[in-house]
Amino acid sequence: MSGPGPRAALVAVLVCAASGAVAGVWVVRSLQPADEPPEAAAVVPTMPPVVASSRRAVGGPDVSARPVDALASDDTLAKQNNAAIAALEAGELDRAIALFEACHRSEPQRDVFARNLAEALARKAVAVREEEHPCGTCVELLTRALELAPDRKDIAELLEHIRRELALEKDFWRESSQHFDLAYDGDRNDILFAGNRLLNQLEDHYLELERFFGASPVDEGRARIKVSLYRREGFGELTGLGEWAGGAYDGIVRIPIGDFAREEQALDGVMRHELAHAFVRALGGRDVPGWLNEGLAQWLEPNRAANLAAARAKISGAELFPLERLVGSLATLQDPEEIPRAYAQSLVLVDWLCGRFGERLVLDMLAKGRDGVPPAQVFFETTRLELEPTFAEALAGR
Ligand SMILES: [Zn+2]
Repeated sequence: MSGPGPRAALVAVLVCAASGAVAGVWVVRSLQPADEPPEAAAVVPTMPPVVASSRRAVGGPDVSARPVDALASDDTLAKQNNAAIAALEAGELDRAIALFEACHRSEPQRDVFARNLAEALARKAVAVREEEHPCGTCVELLTRALELAPDRKDIAELLEHIRRELALEKDFWRESSQHFDLAYDGDRNDILFAGNRLLNQLEDHYLELERFFGASPVDEGRARIKVSLYRREGFGELTGLGEWAGGAYDGIVRIPIGDFAREEQALDGVMRHELAHAFVRALGGRDVPGWLNEGLAQWLEPNRAANLAAARAKISGAELFPLERLVGSLATLQDPEEIPRAYAQSLVLVDWLCGRFGERLVLDMLAKGRDGVPPAQVFFETTRLELEPTFAEALAGR
């Protein structure tokens, strides 16, 4: 999200890695790790009859990670089940599904096999969604998963979300460039003639952000970045965000467009902000703290000087948020009045970090954060200073 003011400054953010939705005039919200590939988690088979493995995120709106059950037994099916778990944890989803399928086929009445197969199908859907948008294959996978585990509300919610997305984008016009797949309502002639221009703008931003981050989200065979433009009603229906939202990033860049001619100029800044979130995710993974994610995305917007002046005014004289409150999506703060201040503080903090200690430090925070090192620790190891009190003192002019 970006600073307050005109729509140019609006950016909606969903839960990027940390995200949820929010409000406010300038919010950016990212639908949670809707499309994050699951991360590895160790499975520790223990004694009979069944043992839960550790949790991992499956992804999707409110889709929570579920363990799969290992069986301690010498029988062939148990061995097959446990081999499937090993494959699942290794990310070999097709092999895991085939093995769980075999178990389930042999003993369809055995709940553990049905549930494990459902989990594997759900993880497959999350992985496929990285490549396919909107994801018809995901509907097939999740429908089957839900049949196998009808009490999995998380799967039901993700399935419903993807169905809504499919319905909404059914007649969308799609065009691509080197790094982007752009989609928008094919009935909208105003956008129809601007598609190529928007793609060129996106490509320009991509090159600049690639230089800044030293990383490329579309490298190494990864899918192009999806950018979908919606009518405001459709955007709201899909994201749950209201008029205040200028855009959202949840693995897909989603932007509401009302009057395209009037909004096109502001759209450029929104696209850049949301694209920055894609780079942040590529470099830092899905658990980048909200203040760092939003601070950086705002800092990389056009009009930095004006945005910074507004942000400094916004937090002037106000008590700073402890950073631990700004770890998740800034949009999830309970008091809507706090959201703009949280975005403002994040921008001012990232600007201070970049200006005083160098952009390299902020990029290190992202890269090391991926390995679980908190930003404050990266800051301390680099500067021998404590992040929060040092920032507070700098802000107070001490
Ligand atoms: Zn944002």
